[in-house]
Amino acid sequence: MRRWPRVAAGLGDAGPLDAVYLCNHGAMITTEEEDGDGVFTAAVRAAVGADVPIVATLDPHGNVSDRMLDSVDIVVAYRTDPHVDQFERGEEAADLLHELWAGMQPHMVAVRLPIVPPNVSLFTDEGPFAEMVAMGERSVSADIANVSVLGGFAFADTSHNGLMVIVTGRDNEASARELARDLADLGWSNRHRFICDPTSLDEAIELAVAAGENTSLPSMVFSDLGDNCGAGGPVNTLWMLEALHGAGAQEVLIVNFRDRRLVQAAQEAGIGNTMTARFTGDDWGRDDEATYSAEARVLALHDGHLVARRGIVAGKSLYAGPMALVDIGGVQVVVTSRAAVGNDPVYSEALGVNLAAVQTIVVKVRSSFPPAYDEFVRPENMLFIDTPGRTSPMLHRMPFKRLPRPAYPLDDGFQWTNPLSEAG
Ligand SMILES: [Zn+2]
Repeated sequence: MRRWPRVAAGLGDAGPLDAVYLCNHGAMITTEEEDGDGVFTAAVRAAVGADVPIVATLDPHGNVSDRMLDSVDIVVAYRTDPHVDQFERGEEAADLLHELWAGMQPHMVAVRLPIVPPNVSLFTDEGPFAEMVAMGERSVSADIANVSVLGGFAFADTSHNGLMVIVTGRDNEASARELARDLADLGWSNRHRFICDPTSLDEAIELAVAAGENTSLPSMVFSDLGDNCGAGGPVNTLWMLEALHGAGAQEVLIVNFRDRRLVQAAQEAGIGNTMTARFTGDDWGRDDEATYSAEARVLALHDGHLVARRGIVAGKSLYAGPMALVDIGGVQVVVTSRAAVGNDPVYSEALGVNLAAVQTIVVKVRSSFPPAYDEFVRPENMLFIDTPGRTSPMLHRMPFKRLPRPAYPLDDGFQWTNPLSEAG
């Protein structure tokens, strides 16, 4: 393959191979290619030939192209969001590989629905996506080797975006077709539920101000949806920060805000001293106003080498680059030099913050924060906030160019026929 000579050369050097296991995300795009994973898997297939089994695990936010499906024998998608079952799915892929070696014939049947779900509708504890994943899990049997449901990644904006059902029959195509059809019907019947209904920024600010004035009110976590690090957010949009500060909200902590120069300025000012903090953020939707200045006190500094203690990163080494904790009149901000997902208490605690005393914690991540803060905040007080930004799940605001249309929830009132129903 012209664009992937290293794939062919590497696999050629390693060969002959008994199998290939791919552990990709599935939503890769490049500057030249909207189907990065498809081109890659096709290159792998071309290198190893038709007879070598290829099994791939994918993130359920992957956008699976026909080229990718044509190139692999079995796709195994994670079944959790946040994704905490990678190990189990890897085991499953290995088990299936053993079955392939023993002669099992996989029959992969896929349906792509005209639904491009916002990421906040793809949780696996409850909701329309969870119901599809659960039905798939219940349906694994002697005839059904694997059921994978992928919500995709809307922001990749590819012509193969869309909620995807992939059922792999075990020596059995009819059962796989029937189940794929039924799962696709379930997804389609729930198309109106793949929506995002976040708290408005104005309402969030009112809640934060009230919680700061009356600390007997429950503490909250705000997920700053427009700046979701996990979806490529820059971890430095200013909307939430300036709104909270402007409203005089107290007992607020923003974790994290990426601004290397501000950390340097805090280092120069020194702990306990005041300075004019100039936050430089993303310019998305802000004309020329991508900075916000406020009088700040430097509360703490840290070298940014951390070990996480909670949630999906527990036990892992993290590096945020040099960090500073600054207070701008009731709003404390953990400023990091590198983009760092605030999905562990250690970012704040390393700087001396007592999270139990914070009334409003603001994180710039969508999915992985609840297990990080559930010691301090009840689940019902973890709120998604509708902020502007590159990762807003309010998809109708996004300048999509390639997404297949019509697609829910961007379009409404159109019909779709399940291709497996036509065939059946
Ligand atoms: Zn994902």
